[in-house]
Amino acid sequence: MRDIDGRTIITGLIGSPVEHTYSPLIQNTFAENLGVNAVYIPLGVKESLPDALKGAFAFGFAGMNVTVPYKQAVIPLLSGIDPVSERIGAVNTLVKDEEGYRGYNTDSTGFIRAMDKAGIDVRGRDCIILGAGGASRAVYDALHCSGADHVYVLNRSLDRARENFGQCSDVTLLSVRDYRSLPSGQYICIQCTPVGLYPDNDRTVIEDEAFYDLIEAGFDLVYRPARTEFMKRLERQGKKACNGLDMLLFQAAESFELFTGTKVTEEAMEAAEKALSKVL
Ligand code: NAP
Repeated sequence: MRDIDGRTIITGLIGSPVEHTYSPLIQNTFAENLGVNAVYIPLGVKESLPDALKGAFAFGFAGMNVTVPYKQAVIPLLSGIDPVSERIGAVNTLVKDEEGYRGYNTDSTGFIRAMDKAGIDVRGRDCIILGAGGASRAVYDALHCSGADHVYVLNRSLDRARENFGQCSDVTLLSVRDYRSLPSGQYICIQCTPVGLYPDNDRTVIEDEAFYDLIEAGFDLVYRPARTEFMKRLERQGKKACNGLDMLLFQAAESFELFTGTKVTEEAMEAAEKALSKVL
C-alpha cells in the first residue's frame, strides 16, 4: 500500500458505469513505478455532471479521465479544449487550470503510437473503419493526420455515421451490410465496435471471409480477449493483426503525463502491462 498524504495528487475516472475499468490499475501502477505521489480512483457519476466537476475542482483534483457517456457532454463545462479534441469533438482527459478543467483527447495519439509500435504505416493507404462511435472519430483523426489517403467508414446505422463523419471530405460512408461495394484493394482496417468483446469472443461485425481478403493489416480496439475473432480471421490468412492493449496503455501514459508532468518510462509501461496481464 502506497502512502497517501496531504500532498498526494488526486486523479480519477468520470463515467457511468466505471465498475469494470482497468484505468485505476494502469494509472496507479505508473505512479508506484515512477515514485510519483499520486492516486487514481474511479468516480461513478450517475447524475449532474456539472456538480461532479465543481466538486472535483473544489477538492483540487489535478485531473480526470472521462469515459462513456460523458466524452462529448462534458465539453461545454470546460475552460477550453485542445485542437485535437476540437477536431474529434470529444475529450477523454481533463487537466485542472485556474478556471476549471481543460480537455484533451489522448485516444488519437495513443492509437498513433500503438500503430507505430505494430509497424503499421497508413501513409498513402486506403483504410476501413468499422464503427462510427466516439472511438472511431479519434481513430479517423489519427489516420487523417498520419497521411491516410481515403477512409471508408462502415457502420450499422448510416445516420450515426453521417452525424459523426458527414463533414469529412476524405471519407466514404457505407452501411456495414454493403461491404461488398468496397472498391477492390488492400486496406488497413480498424475495428472500432465492441463486437467480439469478452464474453462474446466468437463474434465479429462481418462474418464473410471475402471481406478479410481485402485487408492487408487489421487493428482491433478491443483487447479482451487478447486475440479477437476479427484478429483470428486475419491471422488465418497470414495477415498482421493487433489488439487495442497498446492503445489503452499509450493513451493512459499520455493522460498520466498531463496529470502529473512526469514522463512515463518504458519500465513503467512494462510494469502496467504486467499488472494488466494478471487481470485480463
Ligand atoms: P460507441 O461510441 O458506443 O460506438 C460503438 C460503435 O459500435 C457504433 O458505431 C455502433 O454502431 C457499433 N456497434 C455496436 N454494437 C454493434 C453490433 N452488434 N453490430 C455492429 N456494430 C455495432 O463506443 P466507442 O467509444 O466508439 O468504443 C468502441 C469500442 O472501442 C469499445 O469496445 C471500447 O471499449 C473500445 N475502445 C478501446 C480503446 C483502447 O484504448 N483500446 C479506446 C477507446 C475505445 P451504431 O452506431 O449503429 O450503434
